[in-house]
Amino acid sequence: MTNSFYDQFPSHRGRMEYVCLGCRARLDIDELYYTCPQCNEVLLLEDTQFDELRRTSPEQWREAFDLRAATRRSDLKGIFRFYELTAPVLEPEDIVWLGEGNTPIIPASSALAGHVGQDLAFKNDGQNPSASFKDRGMACAFSYLKALIRRHGWDQVLTVCASTGDTSAAAALYAAYVGGAIKSVVLLPQGKVTPQQLAQPLGSGAVVLELPGVFDDCMKVVEYLAENYRVALLNSKNAWRILGQESYAFEVAQHYAWDMADKAVFVPIGNAGNVTAIMSGFLKLHRLGIIEQLPRIFGVQSAHADPVYKYYDESDPAKRAYHPVTVQSSVAQAAMIGNPVSFPRVRHLADQYEQAGGPGMFHVVQVEEQAIIEGMLLANRHGHIACTQGGECLAGLLRARELGLMQAQETAVLDATAHSLKFIGFQEMYFENSFPSEYGITPREELMNAPRRVLSPDVKVRLSSREYTLEAGRAVAEVLHLQAKL
Ligand SMILES: *Cc1c(COP(=O)(O)O)cnc(C)c1O
Ligand SMILES: [Zn+2]
Repeated sequence: MTNSFYDQFPSHRGRMEYVCLGCRARLDIDELYYTCPQCNEVLLLEDTQFDELRRTSPEQWREAFDLRAATRRSDLKGIFRFYELTAPVLEPEDIVWLGEGNTPIIPASSALAGHVGQDLAFKNDGQNPSASFKDRGMACAFSYLKALIRRHGWDQVLTVCASTGDTSAAAALYAAYVGGAIKSVVLLPQGKVTPQQLAQPLGSGAVVLELPGVFDDCMKVVEYLAENYRVALLNSKNAWRILGQESYAFEVAQHYAWDMADKAVFVPIGNAGNVTAIMSGFLKLHRLGIIEQLPRIFGVQSAHADPVYKYYDESDPAKRAYHPVTVQSSVAQAAMIGNPVSFPRVRHLADQYEQAGGPGMFHVVQVEEQAIIEGMLLANRHGHIACTQGGECLAGLLRARELGLMQAQETAVLDATAHSLKFIGFQEMYFENSFPSEYGITPREELMNAPRRVLSPDVKVRLSSREYTLEAGRAVAEVLHLQAKL
């Protein structure tokens, strides 16, 4: 390989189509579709030329992606390092890159691994630009939108999304950067996103509309808008978002030198877009022989929002039935969804996944609210920056171990989907023992933490600067039981 490989934009182009998961209709990507006009089912994107990629050997692909990690081109630095596997219909000028992707995988310290009883690592997707994995999907959706605007010469595009917080933060960020014809509107359930998540779209200049209800209510309104008005929907119903989020799987595989044997990937499930994307990504690598073994996938849901868990809890596939649930308050608020839009995609991909890898490759586990918040606190006490959904993954790993689903030699890769700071209010409620009763969380002393006041403010006023330093120094030494030097 010469360095032309990583400093030149790939020449390969595919042919992409939407495929309906209901009636198998194929639709042209030159139109904005979110659901099938014939049967209303959700869509996935497919590259009909995908098999051409087999002309390149698995070794060549691995080497190519490894070399491309050193690129100087901003259009190949993020999720489009894996351009040929992602959206090989975009041109370099379409690609938006705000630093998304390439997030680190941090192995747990031996103390945490010892406590859990299993090797584990967190992939910190909170280190994306708007501090969640949603940026991966937005980078792809906005790049495609730019291509459409370029081809059609549109002068105004209104992007809309409903959000449990992070989708709107990401959508508003990318819209603010692209600017021009694009204007961003976000619909949030009033009082159901954290102050940090509300601040993000406001700061990016989006129109923020609050509606009473929960996420599922907002989602219905956005679907109504997308059906009846000319707007671009940016929820994960938009299949371009799924494509961009596949990069998570590609990066995990690359991190482990393309060896996925004895790996179990844990993903929180909300609207189920991310777990869909991750399975789809690993399947693509597997089809091309870039990975020889698929990792096992564990979806995790809170008992307060668990329709996907309930579906798979029936072990006989013939008897499974999907029912939306009414959600209850959850600290994994970004996953607090009772009727996940991508459920049909999960069913479709989980089937393919088990066909390719065998039974037991896909599981969904259910965890309690107490375990979720304590998963986050435990992770972060060991040097991680997990959000509550990252904590949900750790709770899911502990649950999988209880159920005897983990093997001793396996490494669990946990998706820390957002930065801990976005969900810090839940930590505060735990530390202050102020959870409303519907969460069902009782803090444990050993996991609580609070600032300790050392001196009263009047001391500062009364003393000179020098006296104050001495007084405060002695007070701190006393609290810490420090031994004086001899
Ligand atoms: C969106 C989101 C989820 C849920 O992902 P889905 O794709 O909706 O299943 C989990 N964690 C965080 C932090 C999120 O923003
Ligand atoms: Zn259809």
